[in-house]
Amino acid sequence: MLLDTYGRTATDLRVSLTDRCNLRCTYCMPEEGLDWLKKTSLLTDDEIVRLVRIAVTRLGVTEVRFTGGEPLLRPGLVSIVARCAELEPRPDLSLTTNGIGLERVAPALRDAGLDRINVSLDTIDPEVFRRMTRRKRHDDVLRGLAAAREAGLAPVKVNTVLMRGVNEDEAPDLLEWAMENAYELRFIEQMPLDAQHGWKREGMVTAADILASLRTRHTLTDEGANERGSAPAERWLVDGGPYRVGVIGSVTRPFCHACDRTRLTADGQVRNCLFAREETDLRAALREEGSDDERVAELWRAAMWGKKAGSGLDDPSFLQPQRPMSAIGG
Ligand code: SAM
Ligand code: SF4
Repeated sequence: MLLDTYGRTATDLRVSLTDRCNLRCTYCMPEEGLDWLKKTSLLTDDEIVRLVRIAVTRLGVTEVRFTGGEPLLRPGLVSIVARCAELEPRPDLSLTTNGIGLERVAPALRDAGLDRINVSLDTIDPEVFRRMTRRKRHDDVLRGLAAAREAGLAPVKVNTVLMRGVNEDEAPDLLEWAMENAYELRFIEQMPLDAQHGWKREGMVTAADILASLRTRHTLTDEGANERGSAPAERWLVDGGPYRVGVIGSVTRPFCHACDRTRLTADGQVRNCLFAREETDLRAALREEGSDDERVAELWRAAMWGKKAGSGLDDPSFLQPQRPMSAIGG
């Protein structure tokens, strides 16, 4: 088991498959991109599958989410999913993607054994999309979303970040669009994980702002919907239900006390928190001569044991982690 000193158990593994991306979301990456990891430092497909196997067979991991960077840019994605789906015990497999290229690959992902998908989309306005991502790919994302739904990857979840003065007034329109298309919408507060270190607490659209904006047009009730457990989203019944919208207040309503996550970067470093400032090198252990699964599992357990109580976001001395979200794996 991946236990920590506060009694939490990590059962949900996030695996970053690449730090590269074909969008440049302003809250994530600078226009010019980043210094991408070298190919030799990236885990190979075999190394990823081996680590997932160690996680599910020795460490009690039950859910695996592939992310990035943009995971659809990883050439071996479908085969990695298929190989992880053959593991015993079989983990629940999901993917977080910006949706570009999903139109083509959604059926293959479903056939490989992918259980669920989250597509990130912050606006229903193509021009706002261009400003936020610095690319004209809005239509590709909409087509990717529809393809995921048609491939049977339902319920398709949509992740949305609102930014002040950019798309902050879109919350009710996004909700109505998601309801019409049977997508499960979840708003996520913007976190200090941008490569440019431009995040400002005062500039953030908070969970309370989002709820107030949605309530200008809809009734939201939390009737039994907010038994959050380790799920970060607080879910609200819209106009009496059955549709529910999620709001993830990572900054203003942290859920660290119930966190069940462990993270693996594309270059094989374990992080016990998105906001951790330390990493543990599993890649080196994998590549050692005579490398042994139990030794790798031991390092992973030790990395999780040192997990802090919280993200430290509410502390004035908070320091943003060195790596941005795209390199950690969101
Ligand atoms: N490229 C894929 C995507 O965009 O879905 C996967 C990686 S991305 C880092 C994962 C999620 O993190 C996306 O939903 C994105 O909106 C979110 N994200 C990125 N930077 C963020 C930030 N500074 N605060 C909150 N969410 C952020
Ligand atoms: Fe790329 Fe996802 Fe970051 Fe946007 S949020 S730049 S799509 S990694």
